Amino acid sequence: AARLGGGPVRCYEPSMGERADRRLALIRGFADAIADGSLTVHYQPTVSLEARTVLGVEALARWDHPELGALLPDEFVPVLEATGQITGLTLFVLDEAVAAARRWLDRGLRLSVAVNVSAGALDDSFPPSVAEALARHGVPPELLTLEVTESGVSAEREHAMPALRRLSVMGCRLAVDDFGTGQSSLAHLRRLPVDQVKIDKSFVLGMGTEAGDAAVVRAIVEMGHTLGLTVVAEGVEDGAVRVALAEMGCDVAQGYLVSRPLSAGHLDQWLDSLVR
Ligand code: C2E
Ligand code: CA
Ligand code: CA
Ligand code: CA
Repeated sequence: AARLGGGPVRCYEPSMGERADRRLALIRGFADAIADGSLTVHYQPTVSLEARTVLGVEALARWDHPELGALLPDEFVPVLEATGQITGLTLFVLDEAVAAARRWLDRGLRLSVAVNVSAGALDDSFPPSVAEALARHGVPPELLTLEVTESGVSAEREHAMPALRRLSVMGCRLAVDDFGTGQSSLAHLRRLPVDQVKIDKSFVLGMGTEAGDAAVVRAIVEMGHTLGLTVVAEGVEDGAVRVALAEMGCDVAQGYLVSRPLSAGHLDQWLDSLVR
């Protein structure tokens, strides 16, 4: 634990027992979190690098745990994936995101919404759940993008293919997330019904300082366009990187430079500030 005074201040590092306790608190608290409103969805805008218009938002889960405080998905998503509770999270975020898309349509804003889907949630029951949510809220399927990580669609994950094909036939858009971090080959990507690649933010964040990262980004943009895909760069934090991406022909930017992920209410304010 952290100490003050005397020697050097040590960072707080939870013991193995404390980590196991946190894990249990997440597993046990998840069902209540949806019911009591401590699980919410934040939205981060994506913008066109050419036209500089807002194209849509990515839905990102947030959990304000009654005892543990504000939690980020990097902590709770792996736990929920391990327990099989990830489908519950995915369906909750999907419903919130599609409902939000409907509200924006009602205000005359045609924004697409992207939802992250773990490979474990991509079973045969998922496409019908998506169809049901879209129909219930009256949202056209082409406004929904499903983001699956590169490792989630790798050749070893054949089980996800039928669901991905079904979603594509329904008219939903598919994005390969965290691209560049896995080992999916060009040949494999061509076999998938994918519309978008999202370049992993680690490469985009390094573009300004690492020549190698800029080269990787350029190669992904070119490869993506060769395959007829829309290329998205995430983790765009500074203006010089944005300019470099636009020069490379990258299509879409997402990152703190444009906006942090915002609650639905704050996103509405942000959108209002653009319209005026
Ligand atoms: P991701 O899908 O790669 O989402 C992008 C992450 O990058 C988000 O972190 C976002 O807040 C962060 N980010 C956005 N712009 C910038 C930037 O300019 N600089 C930096 N340094 N970071 C930026 P977040 O919200 O903590 O989510 C982390 C990951 O958790 C997501 O990565 C996604 O894989 C997963 N996740 C989030 N929500 C869900 C969900 O509902 N279901 C599933 N299965 N996974 C989710
Ligand atoms: Ca994502
Ligand atoms: Ca990503
Ligand atoms: Ca990520």
